[in-house]
Parts: sequence; C-alpha cells; structure tokens
Amino acid sequence: MPVYTAPTRDTRFVVNELLRLESYGNLPGFESASQDMTDAIIEEAGRFVTEVVAPLNLSGDKEGCTRHADGSVTTPAGFKDAYRQYVEGGWGTLSAPEQFGGQGLPHVMGFIMECNLATANQAFAMYPGLANGAISAIREKGSPEQRAMYLPKMVSGQWLGTMNLTEPHCGTDLGMIRTRAVPATDGSYAITGTKIFISAGDHDLTENIVHLVLAKTPGAPESSKGISLFIVPKFIVNADGSLGERNAVTVGSIEEKMGIHGNATCVMNYDGAKGWIVGEENKGLAAMFIMMNAARLGVGMQGLAQAEVAYQNGLAYALDRRQGRALTGPAEPQERADPIIVHPDVRRMLMDGKTFVEGMRALCLWGALQVDLTHKGATEDDRQEADDLISLLTPVIKGYGTDMGYKVATDMQQIWGGHGYITENGMDQFVRDARIAMIYEGTNGVQAMDLVGRKLAQNGGRAVQRLFALVDSECAEESADETVSLVAERLSRATGDMKAATMWFMQNAMANPNNLGAGAYAYMTLTGIVSLGLMWLRMAKVSAAAIAGGAEDKPFYEAKLACARHWATRYTTEAGALRRQVEAGSETIMALSAEQLAIN
Ligand SMILES: Cc1cc2nc3c(=O)[nH]c(=O)nc-3n(C[C@H](O)[C@H](O)[C@H](O)COP(=O)(O)OP(=O)(O)OC[C@H]3O[C@@H](n4cnc5c(N)ncnc54)[C@H](O)[C@@H]3O)c2cc1C
Repeated sequence: MPVYTAPTRDTRFVVNELLRLESYGNLPGFESASQDMTDAIIEEAGRFVTEVVAPLNLSGDKEGCTRHADGSVTTPAGFKDAYRQYVEGGWGTLSAPEQFGGQGLPHVMGFIMECNLATANQAFAMYPGLANGAISAIREKGSPEQRAMYLPKMVSGQWLGTMNLTEPHCGTDLGMIRTRAVPATDGSYAITGTKIFISAGDHDLTENIVHLVLAKTPGAPESSKGISLFIVPKFIVNADGSLGERNAVTVGSIEEKMGIHGNATCVMNYDGAKGWIVGEENKGLAAMFIMMNAARLGVGMQGLAQAEVAYQNGLAYALDRRQGRALTGPAEPQERADPIIVHPDVRRMLMDGKTFVEGMRALCLWGALQVDLTHKGATEDDRQEADDLISLLTPVIKGYGTDMGYKVATDMQQIWGGHGYITENGMDQFVRDARIAMIYEGTNGVQAMDLVGRKLAQNGGRAVQRLFALVDSECAEESADETVSLVAERLSRATGDMKAATMWFMQNAMANPNNLGAGAYAYMTLTGIVSLGLMWLRMAKVSAAAIAGGAEDKPFYEAKLACARHWATRYTTEAGALRRQVEAGSETIMALSAEQLAIN
C-alpha cells in the first residue's frame, strides 16, 4: 500500500515565510488569514485528506466508475462518503466568496486544499476541481439570476459542475464544434450534440450536476468567434431552487483509459436539452477562458501532486530496499547489503524530485497569490503586475509543471525497479495518473504556443519584461551567503539565455512563423526553469536568514539550501541547450515531406 503524508511543514514554510501571507492583512479577504488560522487550516486539511481521501486512491483506481443499464453512473466504493465528509467540513468553501456562502479566504488557502486532495487522490480531487472552473465562469459572466440560482449550491458542494468543450472531431480547435443551441420561446435554448472525454460527466456524489456546455447558435460564425456558453443542469432547477424534471442529457459511455480510473470520463449526449446562455451569444470564448485559466493552474498543480506522492514512495523504498554496497565502502557492514539510498544514481533521482516538488509548491502557491492580487492588490499597478505575471506563467505552470510531474513520477517508479513496474505496489498508478495532466486543459504543446504566440507579444511584451525585471533585481541583491550568491549567479545566467531566446523569436518569427512553433516547447521549458529558479532564490534567501537568525529547525533550512544548490548546479545546465534549440529554428523540424517521414 503506497504511503502518503500531507506536506504540512513545507506548506507552512511557503505560506508563512516565503509568501508571508500575513503581510497582506490590509487586503480584503486576507484580514482573517492570520498565521494561526492558516496553520490550523493546513494541519486540518492535511489530516482530512490523509485519513479520508488517500486510502481510496488505490482502491478507486482498481474499481473505477460504473455506468449502469439505466445510464446512471456510480463512483468507486467510499467516494460518496468521503465527498459527504468533504462537504460537511466546508472544504470546498475556503476561498469562495462570502456572498455565495464561501469563507472568503485568499485563493491560496483553497489552492492548498485542492493540492492536498490531488496529491492524495487525483481522480477524487477532480470532482470538486472541475466545479471550480464552472463556478468561476458563472460568477464572472452569469446573470444575477444565474448566480443566485446556481452558485450557493455549487459553492457548498451540494451540486457539482463540469466543463463540456471537447467533441469527437475537435479538442484543441474548438472553433469547429458542432453542438447546436437553438433558441426556444421561453428564453432557454435547445442543446443538441455529443461531447466526449467529459470529466465527472456523471456520478452519484451530488443530487444535481451543472454542465457548462459550448455550443453554436444558428448562423453563428464558423470560427471560435461563434462559440456560446450554456448552463445545462442535469435536473432542471425550479424557480424556488428545488429540482424539477430530468434534462435531456445522458451518458453514452464511460471512456476506458490509462489512469484516473476513479473519475468518470464520459461521452455526453445532449438531445434537445434545456440550456441557458451565459453572457451573450458568440461571446462564449471569453467565458471559456475563465474556466480554462482556473483549470489550467489546477492541472499544473496536479503535476506537483503526483510528483509529491511518488517522491514520498520513492524515498520510502530507497530507505528500505537493500542492494549492493555504497561506492565509498559498506554503510551498514552488519547487513548483507546497504539500502539503495546510498547509491548516487538513486540520490540523483531523489534530489531531482525533492527540488522539483518544493520549487513547484512555491511556484504554484505564489501563482495562487498572484490570482488573489490580480483582484485585490492595493494599487492598480500591483493588480496589473500580478495579472501580467500570472497570465504569462499560467501555460508554464501547466506545461512545465506537468512535464516535470510525469518525469518525477517515472523516476520514482524507477527507484522501485521491477517492483515499480508491476501493479501491486501502486507506483504505476502515479505514472498513469500524472500522464493525463500533460494532455487535458490543452496539451502541453498548445500551452507552449499560448506562451510564445499570445503571452509573449501581448502589450508589447510587458509581462515578460516584468518577469525579467523581477528576476534581475532579485539576483542583483548582495548576499554574504554562498548558496544565495550561487543561485543568483546561475539564475541570472539562465535568464540571460531566456532573454536571448526571446530576442531570437522577435527577430525570426515574423519572417517564418514556423520558427516560433518549432522553438515554443524549448522556450516553455526554459521559462519553467527560470520560474522555478526565482522560487529557489527566494527560498535560499529565507533559509539562509533563518539559519543566521538561529532558527530551531536548522535541518529543514539546511535541506532547503542544499536543494537550492541542486537547482543551481543541475537544473540550469539545460538552459543553454534549450536556448540553442530555439535558435536552431524550424529548418530541420520542417525539412521532410510527409512521404519522407513515412520512409522505413
Ligand atoms: C481523461 C480526459 C479527461 C478530459 N476531460 C475533459 C473535460 O472535462 N472537458 C473537456 O471539454 N475536455 C476534456 N478532455 C479533452 C482534452 O482537453 C483534449 O483531449 C485535449 O484538449 C486535446 O484535444 P484532442 O484530444 O482533440 O487532441 P487534438 O486537438 O486533436 O491534438 C492532437 C495533437 O496535435 C497537437 N496540436 C493540435 N493543434 C495544435 C496547434 N495549433 N499547435 C500545435 N500543436 C497542435 C496537440 O498538441 C496534440 O499533440 C479530457 C481528455 C481526457 C483524455
């Protein structure tokens, strides 16, 4: 049985010492987020997921979801009861607005809970996770009546929500959707079409499910400019809030898939189902991006989540499994062999994993803070800066975060040798579950294109310039601590590579747009390394200061400094290579014809 421990110590470090959440106490919603309060939430959230949600991860994977003869769907044993406890504990309400029954705490606090849930059980976490995107879209684009009708019950968790974008012939290119929405005389629309791959499309956790569905109205433009967004509840809601008749939306089947078996990925058939438009006709794209941006950060965090739990299990095995002897001589001569943790190659994987997990936790929670500051920052410039940074880095958190999450999960499986490949130990589940995060919410290739094609050029490159300015100023600060200086020097160098790659795009993308597409992935990875580096620089500074100040928990801070050095000496070596990949342009990538590619 895999192990899981909620990373409460490190989360408290990020919240209290790195982000210093308490220092934002003058901003709305932050006033009640005192350190006592946030520490208590972090501890209690950790206890809840450890005791209630984590034990259902392996069993949920083995059992999967079931579609019954009458079309109804049930989740694996234990999910319904765990979800009931989640709702009763008010866990989904932490960061939701008080106006709709939420607790109004900073987004950071809700994100910590989401992260804990996904680490303990990604398939389970996706049920409330998907609803968050739907809540954001209704909140920002729904009418006052829609907000009043749906949000309180979605926020409390009494109802859940889904996002219905994908169709059989289109996933990335949503301009091609065929689902139709025909206006009815009562102000509603009749929705007809088939959606596939819909996460949490149906289940037995809640009495109602609020589907948000992309469709096209008659005469709408054939491109993404013709998309509209509709609320299509599983049960139609009466004016008094009670549940009325069953809507004409059914589950055709549950997809058989590689991982996240505990989450019902459904084919959804809409046969003239009653739907209500969110916002205006043909303006669905903006609402869709609200859903997707919330969801993309959540998916990036899944990269962290699977890396975290896989790391914990890789470490446990490395301490327990005995093979061979340390290169420097037997570490435990009284035993037949040393634990495999003595081998530098095993240590390499553990250090890569720990450095990613802790750096990514800092990046994700810092990202969540930027989401808060986008709305609540003290000045217009604060709000703008936060918005610029999180817009730029959302595709990086999603793309780089999930690529690395998968890599760490496979490295940890590797530590288990053959025992990681067979299914009885559960290491394969982390790899299988981590894999999907690189695909959904827009594949990582599409994230890379979003970064270089949209985000880089927006507002004359203001966001990337802000990132460079931030990194440059923080690298320039003098420090007496050797680690801090080393990290600053290597981060500065990696950022130099990123600046050069950015400049190369500016000079070579207009003449041949394939140059942009060919270098996009390398650029996203390079930006990921720099972003993680900014977090490691900050963590190194905080840790060096804590040690200098005589902190009690010295081993914790010393470990942080060692990981910061690991980032500086091992992660940054890729930066120059990635820059050269960008600068190689598209020539070889596009050189072969389709026929030549097929020669074998
Ligand atoms: C388990 C699971 C759960 C999912 N949950 C949901 C959900 O809840 N709601 C929902 O609506 N959808 C959901 N999806 C769908 C998911 O978001 C899509 O699969 C994904 O966006 C990719 O679309 P596609 O599969 O059609 O691939 P395609 O769009 O056909 O892409 C195929 C390949 O081409 C590349 N590509 C395509 N266009 C470009 C481009 N312009 N530039 C560069 N490369 C490009 C892609 O990167 C990919 O490698 C889910 C999918 C899965 C497997």
